[in-house]
Amino acid sequence: MKTTREIFIATLVGGAIGDALGYEVEFKKLEEIKSIFGESGITELEKNSQKGKALISDDTQMTLFTADGLIWAYNRMRMRGIGSYAGSGTYQSYLRWYYTQTGTLPTETDQVWLKKQLHEENSSLLDYRELFSNRAPGNTCLSALGSGRMGSIEQPINQSKGCGGVMRVAPVGLFLHKEPEYAFKIGSDIAAITHGHPTGYLSAGAFATIIAELVNGKTILDSTMTALSILKKHTNHEECLAALDLALELSAKELEPEKAISIIGEGWIAEEALAISLYCSLIEADFKKSLAFSVNHDGDSDSTGSICGNILGAHYGFNVIPKEWMDVLELKELIVEVSNNLYHMTFN
Ligand SMILES: [Mg+2]
Repeated sequence: MKTTREIFIATLVGGAIGDALGYEVEFKKLEEIKSIFGESGITELEKNSQKGKALISDDTQMTLFTADGLIWAYNRMRMRGIGSYAGSGTYQSYLRWYYTQTGTLPTETDQVWLKKQLHEENSSLLDYRELFSNRAPGNTCLSALGSGRMGSIEQPINQSKGCGGVMRVAPVGLFLHKEPEYAFKIGSDIAAITHGHPTGYLSAGAFATIIAELVNGKTILDSTMTALSILKKHTNHEECLAALDLALELSAKELEPEKAISIIGEGWIAEEALAISLYCSLIEADFKKSLAFSVNHDGDSDSTGSICGNILGAHYGFNVIPKEWMDVLELKELIVEVSNNLYHMTFN
């Protein structure tokens, strides 16, 4: 029996493990990955020789800042009776992430967001030097946040549909799991802070809904069906829908995963990243094998590993995560703490 609290932790820890597995091979083509790790590709977490841990990348960093941003926004909205999840905490939390990566903030007035907030009495993400490491941060996120303007669906910040919007919104699905359609909206809003193309933010909405429905106990397939039915209500949904339909279609065929993934794409863009992750979670129930499929390809391995790990964690819960992987994961304690904080806020 999995408790909801365990599912929250498994979702974020699972994502971080997938991220760490994929980060090792993020910019490598499959052929190169195989030449280093053998015919099956990378299948085990690699410890960084200097840090002694398997390193997480920007995907997990930004996921943590999303979770913290939701908590921040929830508290401010509750106190003031007004505001939004995107604009009252998550944008400010992303400015902090921008600060960790660049050492600066876009404007002088943004300095105020570095001050300790009410929800940070015990600890702050800014206390963790690992979060200040550059782990191949996405250029779209950096340039959008560096502009000093918050993007939204109504006022797009750019025309990007890179996967940087979708890879970070699992916490939205956890926190708003009781309202899958609202999770879609908030997931989209939060992705649109940095990604202005409809496919960029609608993929994030779909992902948040999938996570929400998994928390509600639905299967991966049924969770996807809920996401698709909500997705179809939005304008410009066609590209995202086509990618997810393709993932479902391929998952029902007898096909080498390597071949199927190459048909979906490389995952640098949002709908492909979500579709590859979804495909891998559907074809293989074993946590390690499914994650290995999700990172061994030509494309954006850490983002597909991260999203796939979120899905597997949300579906199977904590017990399927191998202890030997938990033991070497960088910032494991912090990821568990943030998951717990999000859980307590959801049920307080
Ligand atoms: Mg990354």
